[in-house]
Order: sequence, then C-alpha cells, then structure tokens
Amino acid sequence: MSIRIGRRQALPACLAAALVGGAVAIALPTTALAGGNGHGHGHARNVIFINGDGMAAAHREAARLALAGYDGDLTMDSLPVTGLQTTDPRDPDDAITDSAAAATAWATGQKTYNGAISVDVDGNPLLTLGAEAEAAGKATGIVTTAQVTDASPAAFFSTTPDRGLEDQIAEQYLEVTKPEVILGGGEDWWLPAGNEGVYPPRTAAEQGSETDPEVSRSTRGDLIAEAEGLGYQYVTDAASLAAADGDQLLGLFSNEEMFQQRPEGEGDEYAPVVPLADMTSKALDTLSTDRDGFFLLVEEEAVDEMSHANNATQMLRAMAALDDAVQVARDYVAEHPDTLLVVTGDHECGGLTVEGVDDADESGPGGTLAGTPAVEDQISGEDGPFAVAGSDQRFVLDWTTSGHTGVPTVVTAEGVGSDALVGYHPNTHLHDVMHQVLFDR
Ligand SMILES: [Zn+2]
Repeated sequence: MSIRIGRRQALPACLAAALVGGAVAIALPTTALAGGNGHGHGHARNVIFINGDGMAAAHREAARLALAGYDGDLTMDSLPVTGLQTTDPRDPDDAITDSAAAATAWATGQKTYNGAISVDVDGNPLLTLGAEAEAAGKATGIVTTAQVTDASPAAFFSTTPDRGLEDQIAEQYLEVTKPEVILGGGEDWWLPAGNEGVYPPRTAAEQGSETDPEVSRSTRGDLIAEAEGLGYQYVTDAASLAAADGDQLLGLFSNEEMFQQRPEGEGDEYAPVVPLADMTSKALDTLSTDRDGFFLLVEEEAVDEMSHANNATQMLRAMAALDDAVQVARDYVAEHPDTLLVVTGDHECGGLTVEGVDDADESGPGGTLAGTPAVEDQISGEDGPFAVAGSDQRFVLDWTTSGHTGVPTVVTAEGVGSDALVGYHPNTHLHDVMHQVLFDR
C-alpha cells in the first residue's frame, strides 16, 4: 500500500511553480509517513547522507572481516534498518552507472545519463535536494575526500550537462545554491592558472605516476576570493579548520582528491590532511546551529578510486575512515533523534568479492578466459591475503574489473523515516524518502 503525496505541498510556491508539469506525485510507503515501528515518528529536521563511493556488499564485508572480525560489526552495518538499492542509469551507451547519474537519482529523483549533473536525459536542469533545502531555510553542507566539485556532491548542489565543468560547479555553489559548509579537496578548480594557492602544483612525476599534473585551472577567476567576499571563512588545514568559528566554511585541503589513487607501490597514499571524521564533526557543529535543520552530504571517495586501482589495502583504509565518520554521525543522531542517517554507496566498483586463500578456484587466468597473454593481462588479480581480525584465518580480495559494476548496493539507516528504506528499491527511492523527511510537515 502506498499514499500519493503532491510534491507541491512540500515546496515554497516559487519552487513549486518551477516544477515542470505542476503537481508531481510521488509514491512512498506508509512507513515514511507514519514512522512505523519506532525508527522514526514525526517530523525530521535533518538528514545526514553518507556515500561510500563505489561501495557495495563485498567492500563492507571485507572491511568487517579485516577491522571487526567474525563477531564484530562495522558501525555502518549496525544501523537498525537495512535495504538494497539498484543503480542503473538511463544512458544511451551504458547499462552501468557512473557517480554523476547515480547522484542525480539521489538528488533529484530522476534517472539520467552518465556524466549528467542533475540534468535530465535531454539536458534540462532539475531541482536538487540541496537547492530545495536552502529554499526551505535549512543549512546545507558538503564533506568529501574527493574534490568538493566532484560528481556526487555536485549533483546535490548544481546542475550541468557535463561533470567535468568543475569550476562552473564551484561557481554555482557560491552564486546559486550557497551551501554553508564546503569541506574537501579540489583547490585546483577554485583558482585560475598561475595562482598556485596553498597546495602547489604537482607534476606527473611528483605524483609517482603518468597522470596529468595537478595545476590550478579555474576559468571563472579566483573563486576562493569570491567565497571570502560572500562571507565564507576559508581554511586549508586541520589546525585552521579546528579554529574556525564562522557559520559559512570553505575548506580546501588538496589540489584534487585528498589521497593518491594508484595501484599498490606506485605512489598510492591514503592519508588525508584532515580525516573524514573530523570534517564531518566540524560540519555538524556548524550546520546544527541553524534552527530550521540541515542537509549534510558526507562522502568517502577513496573506496571507489582505490577500487578502480584494484588496491585493496588502501580501499580498506578508506573504509575504516568512512566508518569513523559514520560513528560521528551516529553519535549526533543519538543526541538529535530528529535526524535521518543513511549510509550507502552510489554503485559498486571493482567487481570485488571475498574469497578463501586457496586459489585452486580461480576462473580467471588459467580458467575459461585463458589462452592468450593479452586476455590474461587484462584480468584483474587477487589482493591479500588479509587477516580476519581476532582470528588466525585469512581471506583474499578478488577484483574482476577496474570499472564499475551493476550489482545492488547496501543501504543502512536509522532515525526518522528510515523504515521506508527497508526493501529492494531503485536509487531514486532514496531521493523520495529524503525529500519526505526534509520537507513534509
Ligand atoms: Zn568510480
């Protein structure tokens, strides 16, 4: 059974009028309204939405075994509500989503093509949760170990047909949606060429790889100066973030990502200047001063990018950092039950699975695809073995691709409205639940 709700009820008149088609109806389980069996009754003011980019069940289980052991749980896995989410995009050329299309589904409730930042399949801008939250008087924030203008945060706070236009995305943050807290990497997109900023350029050689150099590249001028002119307190390291006391914060802690995504031993590093948990804590301190409530997006990007690099050791470090951030959020919810906390991943990355150490089972090299060296070279390998914490048992992690896959991702949640996330849903369902929790009164 479901109840149809006119979305117009939830929106200020100016935004409702902007909705194409007028009274758009969305269907939600009754539990989203009634609160169900105790995980959420009444009206929620806040949403903390945590994205482990590229994280699906195998990443979570690998981290559970390595960090908590057979009898332990990650914090993210101990939330009381669990569901599954499908992630397929509506891309003319690809059945598997990227982060842009996946985050657009979350931020707008609409499926779109890969690379789209909250525009529909025809390129038309869509209304984002971030913009709606600001229009409703709530505070909003971004915390990520990616560039703050990377696809996942961008889809909640900007609209553009191309995820690569990161300087334009930054400009929209400042001039259109105005999130109060912006913490993460990506200084290079906020400063024009020649203006080095706090984090100096790094050549490809300095990064230990053959990727592009890290250099300032804003085509929209000095966006950091613009932010300061708009009242943002600008911080660049852990000490200045800790000391900050403004109600608008811009923290840029690296040129691009706050880590180096590479295969093992090729310049790979996971050691963010500010831990994800500390950024999350500061964001909650800042946003929670708004009496109208807040929407906070928290993202650990290295789960995805280390999985692209098939680097299980660093992926597990990122998972540990992500779980620390979930604990910070959970502590907040314990004291502020008028909050929905959701932890999930936008898609799977790496085709990861958890296996025993005996490799007699391998169906890769030596298996049905074997026969030509070229094919064998393309087949990703195993990482490990890794110890099961508190045990003398070990496991290995096996990658099947350096790209994304289409398996569902796990959703765990607690707080107001979380019961509506039980079940097996398309990723657009998360949008509908968060929308209901934030705006329906
Ligand atoms: Zn990815």
